Amino acid sequence: MTLRLALLAALAAAPLPAAVAAPAPQQVAPAATWFTVGSARVASLHDADLLIANDGKTFGGDAGVPAVTALLAAANAPTDTVRVSVNALLIRLPRRVVLIDTGLGPGAGVMAASLGGTATSVDDVTDVLITHSHGDHVGGLIDHNGNRMFPNAKVRMSAAEWTFLQANTGAAKLVAAITPQVVTFTPGAEVVPGIRAVAVPGHTPGHVAYELKSGRGRLLDIGDTAHSTIVSLMKPNWTMGFDSDAAAGRASRRAELTRLARSHELIFSPHFPYPGVGRIAAKSDGFVWVPAAGGTAK
Ligand SMILES: [Zn+2]
Repeated sequence: MTLRLALLAALAAAPLPAAVAAPAPQQVAPAATWFTVGSARVASLHDADLLIANDGKTFGGDAGVPAVTALLAAANAPTDTVRVSVNALLIRLPRRVVLIDTGLGPGAGVMAASLGGTATSVDDVTDVLITHSHGDHVGGLIDHNGNRMFPNAKVRMSAAEWTFLQANTGAAKLVAAITPQVVTFTPGAEVVPGIRAVAVPGHTPGHVAYELKSGRGRLLDIGDTAHSTIVSLMKPNWTMGFDSDAAAGRASRRAELTRLARSHELIFSPHFPYPGVGRIAAKSDGFVWVPAAGGTAK
């Protein structure tokens, strides 16, 4: 299967809104970046990069292409597309091996190879936590043959997200494969010891972030609260075409970024430039990304 076809297949697992074109995939070298959160060893896993057209459908649909172009140009970034990474997060706890999201899936992304580079086997993973059911987060739950990728893991997602995924006829094969593994929760719950799900409404019906606490260490996987360090942070009020509820998505993005800029806590983003680990800072009426220095962060 070509990379493009594999990506389209992965996205078809849980399609984006009809108006949004499939982003162009950029294959990346498998990579993992380790850091620590309290006593937990954590690794960001690179899966792919996506080039999303600046066509008014995804980023800043309400602002218009010229405004998005001007913002990208001012940041010295290409203006025809917006580049985002696809990253997953591995968390090693004393009794658990946790993976948050799974990338695009075999053929489109390299998450499995990046995981292998951490000396973690797919058989070792005890819990896969899903932020939401778009294809770039759930595609890696099944292998080339449509069988479950993590045979010994519970697959945990919010009850609302599981209902959303099951209703998606394009995802029937994926749903059938993972059904025996799925365990649902209500946002707010501690889904595995030390990791709590946090509701972030707007992106999909059951979208959540995950907060890891270990000793004094804290890390928030923000899921798809924001996508681009340029557009989503500098202009958080602009609409995002991947959000199923644009107004709720905008409100969540603004509120969560405001809170994170105040707390200055460490975050992981599935879509910020790999490895996607750093902090949010306030700047004028928006925000900026402050990547964590080096390979460790507390
Ligand atoms: Zn995503």
